[in-house]
Amino acid sequence: MLYDEKRHPAHTNPRFSSHVRAHEEIISNEFWYTDKTPSLGPGFTAAKTQERTSSVVEILLRAATRAEKNDTADLAEAYYQLSDKIESCGPGGRCGSLACPLCARAYQKAKAAAQQTAITEATKTRPGKRLVFVTVVPKAMMYSPGEFHEIEVKKANRWLKDALPVGRRMILGSADLGWETGRSGKYIQIHWHLAMWTGNPYSLEQKLKLRFRKTKKYERPVEVKIPDDLGFLPYMNKAIKLPHLLRTNRTHLPELLLVLDRTEAMDLMVSRRLRLSAQSGQLAFKPIGRREG
Ligand SMILES: [Zn+2]
Repeated sequence: MLYDEKRHPAHTNPRFSSHVRAHEEIISNEFWYTDKTPSLGPGFTAAKTQERTSSVVEILLRAATRAEKNDTADLAEAYYQLSDKIESCGPGGRCGSLACPLCARAYQKAKAAAQQTAITEATKTRPGKRLVFVTVVPKAMMYSPGEFHEIEVKKANRWLKDALPVGRRMILGSADLGWETGRSGKYIQIHWHLAMWTGNPYSLEQKLKLRFRKTKKYERPVEVKIPDDLGFLPYMNKAIKLPHLLRTNRTHLPELLLVLDRTEAMDLMVSRRLRLSAQSGQLAFKPIGRREG
């Protein structure tokens, strides 16, 4: 048998290349794997996430079998490795992969908790400014099935930071891989959800709309909302809509899971004037630079 080594995975120890400390602090703190606060809502309990994890493993194994039949041995091996990694994730040793629903949820919770603290602090020092929740959907960032391997979230985040016409203000946010249906078929759309502060939400929206223009009439490349509370934070850090993908898109999910697996959780985040740090099993954002006017 060709894939004997799949029974003995060589990846029992997760290795991170960026924000190593932050990733390790989160996956070694079981708190983030429980149902303790912050809650991600009733659809995202630990039990439901465990069920989704079983589905993901099953989907990957089926994709591996399919790839073997199609004589794409490298791809089959990649799917076997990933399914093994996710299947062996547990309280004794977390896999740390963003493709693992359990670990993805832990990262999501840890990020939301740290952002909540950072946003609350920053809002106190910005009298007269409003917190806004901004969504930016640049049309260039579309990937069809078969092209997902081209997705480079880190690079996309650098592009966004240069493209944002918002000066030097503080920003906290995350890239999001949306599965969209368009006239030319289905595709992944990289877009961003960002929290920032402004004295004038309307003019901020106009500035963003000039930079990220519509290509078709019905599109909404920019949305600026004034949130009632910080309940948007889990949503901002979701990365993908897994329940929806499991219901509607099992075909392309394996390819997307490979992208998630090589994307490091902390690299999804966009921040400006804040530095990410980690200690005692949690994340923190520390302000850097002078205060903006
Ligand atoms: Zn895991």
